[in-house]
Amino acid sequence: MPVLTRLIPSPVVVDIRPGALDDLASVLADQRISQSGRLAIAVSGGSGARLRERLSPTLPGADWFEVGGGTIDDAVRLADGMKSGRYDAVVGLGGGKVIDCAKYSAARIGLPMVAVATNLSHDGICSPVSILDNDAGRGSYGVPMPIALLIDLAVIREAPIRFVRSGIGDALSNISAVADWELSHRVNGEKVDGLAAAMARQAGEAVLRHPGGCGDDGFLTVLSEGLVLSGIAMSIAGHTRPSSGACHEISHAIDLLYPKRAASHGEQVGIGAAFAMHLRGDPESSRIMADALRRHGLPVVAREIGFSDEEFVRAVEFAPETRPGRYTILEHLDLTPERIKDAYTDYVASVTA
Ligand SMILES: [Zn+2]
Repeated sequence: MPVLTRLIPSPVVVDIRPGALDDLASVLADQRISQSGRLAIAVSGGSGARLRERLSPTLPGADWFEVGGGTIDDAVRLADGMKSGRYDAVVGLGGGKVIDCAKYSAARIGLPMVAVATNLSHDGICSPVSILDNDAGRGSYGVPMPIALLIDLAVIREAPIRFVRSGIGDALSNISAVADWELSHRVNGEKVDGLAAAMARQAGEAVLRHPGGCGDDGFLTVLSEGLVLSGIAMSIAGHTRPSSGACHEISHAIDLLYPKRAASHGEQVGIGAAFAMHLRGDPESSRIMADALRRHGLPVVAREIGFSDEEFVRAVEFAPETRPGRYTILEHLDLTPERIKDAYTDYVASVTA
């Protein structure tokens, strides 16, 4: 008999709205994630301190743990601090570093993890992966998916707007990443998971077409949902294909070649995506994406993030080496540096006309 359906690993609670954080304790109690209120809450020392002050009265049974940084040692230290406390759950309250530390620590001590994202800078908010620095560089560690995810739009609005912009670039880049995945299917027969592709693409398209801006709740809701769906799409696929193609290879190349000068993840993958769409022979879609980036205050050409045309061409040339085995429009065209330069000149003329 064929498998009739499949179960999708996903959080039990997804709560995205202004004020969500004020109801944290009651949401966790209602969902039987924490009935006793015994929570271990991981926060950063900086902006986390203010949230701690504000939330402490509503969470009398919670213990607070300050997360030093985003290394595996920080995560292990956090787990050691939490392990004797008989908690119901670990809450990661903060940006990517805090959430990734909390995810890993919760897995290590066998507790469910609740993610409370205080910025929207990338699509790792709701994923079964923890990105932590180790002695050899940066590692991706498989961990359970968060059991609950809260995004308080009032808190998101307090974070610097560059974080929201970064999330926009990351969500939009899904459209290009899925196109790369489908290209690899046509050329190499790589299996595409249709549901993961649908979720990732719809997340990107919804952000692309939404008429609102960084300041309004309607847009921030769609962006938050898009980033959550991207994470779940990667979890379904079992790899990052739904949200990472040539766009991300180019961004990783910039990170590796110019580590001290790199811009935000979303700025880099946004430019990478718009350029990859141009390379795919679709200047119209490339322009639509560039227009969306510009409308939200994101850069569309490398010079706007401080890189010369030559430096960007060098990054595009190096990009395939950052993800060996991944087939995207870059590997497909296998361009010489001269042809990359010509294509980039064309792209710049097209999106700045
Ligand atoms: Zn990304």
